[in-house]
Formats: sequence, structure tokens, C-alpha cells
Amino acid sequence: MGATVDHLESHHRYTVIRGFTDAKGVRVPFEASGVIRMIDISDDVTEIYIDWEREGVAPGGPTERLTFLMKATDGPRTNHMRTYFEKGDLVMPPRERKPAAAAPSPAAPPAPQADPSLARFEGLHPQEEICLNENRVACGCDPAFHRTVWPLAQLGVNACLRCGAVTVTRQVGDDGHHTGNAWTAYWTVPTSQVIVDWLAQFPRMNIAYGGAPWRWPMAAELVRYPILVYPADTRVADQASLDALEARLGAEQAAQSRAWCIGSACTNISAVPPDVPEALNAFIVARHALYIRPGSDLDILKSHAHLRSPSCELAADLLLRRPDAYGVMMEWLGSADANTFSAGVAMLRDARRIFSGPDDPRLAPQVLRILDGLSLEPAKDVPGRVETCLRFESFLVAIADLGANSPAMLDGLSALAAKLHGKDRYVADAARVVMNELNGVDNRPPEYRKS
Ligand SMILES: [Zn+2]
Repeated sequence: MGATVDHLESHHRYTVIRGFTDAKGVRVPFEASGVIRMIDISDDVTEIYIDWEREGVAPGGPTERLTFLMKATDGPRTNHMRTYFEKGDLVMPPRERKPAAAAPSPAAPPAPQADPSLARFEGLHPQEEICLNENRVACGCDPAFHRTVWPLAQLGVNACLRCGAVTVTRQVGDDGHHTGNAWTAYWTVPTSQVIVDWLAQFPRMNIAYGGAPWRWPMAAELVRYPILVYPADTRVADQASLDALEARLGAEQAAQSRAWCIGSACTNISAVPPDVPEALNAFIVARHALYIRPGSDLDILKSHAHLRSPSCELAADLLLRRPDAYGVMMEWLGSADANTFSAGVAMLRDARRIFSGPDDPRLAPQVLRILDGLSLEPAKDVPGRVETCLRFESFLVAIADLGANSPAMLDGLSALAAKLHGKDRYVADAARVVMNELNGVDNRPPEYRKS
């Protein structure tokens, strides 16, 4: 309960980046994805148990158990989990979770409550590890005022929109699946006030985890949840002011790019202080990105624009302002180098700026030509998939994000789905999902559609 192994922790989505078979013979292929709900160590400390909701196997249902031996010398094991699992977003368990048969009924985790005793810190960061229970900020205000600080880092950084307090936390929890006791709690991570004051200069955001388009299980780096961004100095006194502020910011940001929303909320963030811990490195990268320009070194822009970089959207926006943006993007989209390709996808999905519209006559032919040139050789370790499946999926997500719904693009996607049929049904299905989205057809299963 609450155990972690390397970067594995409960309530985060993980994508398998190298297939494996666990100690009990459970086969998990490359690209399998799921949400870890519990990590435990056997009483005699010989085995690691990971219970996860694997996509396609146990979505929202009973978890699948993976077992790894402590003394293993190959495969997933302590200190080597990063070779096998890529960490994605936090996915909290649904509140109305069905208990497993014969398990005690898990109580829903209590809603966060204001804790007046936390007012004792008077806006300063606690210099000890204390449990904040469900609260993410060490202040006495109502948790309704608490927001995530941009960018997301390995450690949680959250701020209060009412009193301004900023707190660095790590999260622990259990969904109650085995214990009947669901809980999530945040522990403060002692951090020097100098560093906390620097973190406090970054904007706050509200992430709508339920608001991403309904597509298919994919690498976390390709999923973008809608966000609302608040400048760092935003303060509200009460719920009515918060509602009014969010209505105003929502209206302002609705028609703007994410890069604009983030960039315009970042003002006067001072130089990186010494000794910022590695787990807050995302803030250092983001601060650097605020000081690069469209004319900066192309390799620096490219590394910032990687889909896994916290500065991805800012850098992609700078790249798209370059006079040679179109040529750079198409070259990168055709590159064999995975990092270069990643930056190309980051540009393509936000490339409205350089196209006259989704009907731009250059777009469909060039993108479809690159797609047509991708290898259809089977993947070595994964039956039923082509070795270029991640490339196809990245293109499909970018085309959908861009809203490139010209007849030429739709015809091309239809041809792609037909071509992949029998070679990689996941890519073929993904192409159909994107076609539906571009045609305005609801991809959600019926039970999720509004009546
Ligand atoms: Zn507060």
C-alpha cells in the first residue's frame, strides 16, 4: 500500500516501452498501457506485486496482477523499471468503484476539506514531512482555491489562489481494491523557501482530465487535456470571485493557443536558484524555454519541442513563427530520428499558424506522402503490429488536433485504414477514429454519450 518501485507509483498511467513476461507467465506486449492501482512487496520481501487496470484487459474492472522477483537479473526489476514502463498522467480511481468479490466495500475517498490547523505555516513552506491528507497546499483555505502550478514535474507543486501559499508534495494512496479503504494523501516535501518562492512565480493551471477527445489508449505524451491558465499573481477572496475569474479567463483563452495561454501568464520569472532538485527539473526547462526565440539555435528549439518536454508547446510555437517553419516541419516529420520526429509532430498538431486552413492545399498531399512511405514491416516483439505503429499514431493524433478535415485528408485516411487492415488493426482503427472526429462523429461508447 503506497509502495513505489523506481518511478512506478499508484494511480498513474504507464505505457510498456519494452514487452515482457512476468514471474507468473503473464505476457505484457510493447505498447500495452494501464493504470497502476497498487504496488506491494511480499511479506518475505522476495516478490513485487503490481496491480494495474490494463487497457483492453481490465478497463475499469478487476485489476491484473504482475509479479516480479526481487532477485531477478533480467526483465522488469528494481532499478530497471524505467526500461519497461513509461510514466504517464495521474488517473485517480473512479469514486463509485465496484468492490472486488469478497473484498470489503471501499469507502470513497473523502472530499478535500479545509484544514484550519495548516494556517500555522502562514504561507511559508513546511520544512518537515507532514501529511496534508487530501489537501495539496499547506494553508488553511478551502481546497476549492488550490490549483496546480505549471509545468507538471515529478513532484507535485500546487498553489492557493486565495492566500498565495505554494507547496511541494508527493502523493501516496490506495484505491481500496484490496483493503476496502480508499485514500489519497499528500505529503509535503521539505524544500527551501528560496526555491518555493521561485516556483511561486510560475502560472497556475486547472487541468480538465475528463476533457480530452475520446480516441484510443495512447502514449501519455500524445494526450492533451484542456487547461485554464492563471497568472502567478492571481488572487481571489471568495468562491464568487473565483467563479467570475474563471469565466473571464475561460472566455479569453478559448480562442487562443496553449502556447499563448501559458506564455502570456509567465511574466518576470527570475533566474533559476541554486540546488533545485532533479524532481523539479521541469521548472528549469520551462524557464529556459521562456528565453529562447524563433531565431534561436534550431537544435535547442528542437530539444525543447520534444513531446515529452514541459516546454513542448512554447517551443513548437516559436518554431512555427520562423520563416522556414513549413520546410523544417516537413523535414522533421520525415526524419528517421525519433527526437527530431517528435518535435515535428509537436509543430504539426499546432500548425494552424502556417496553413491557410485545414483545407490548405499543401497539407494533405505532403503528410499523406510521408505516411505512405512508412514501413509496414511487422514489429519484432509485438504480434499484429507494424514496426512504425507509434509513428502512425503520432501522425493521426496531430492530424486530429489540427482539425485537418479536407476531403483529400479524409480520403487519404480512409485509404490508410484499408492499407493497414490485416497488418495492424490498431492503426487501422485509430485512422477510423480520427476520420470520425474530423467528420464530427462521436467516438464515445453509447453509455458515455449525453442523451
Ligand atoms: Zn490558502
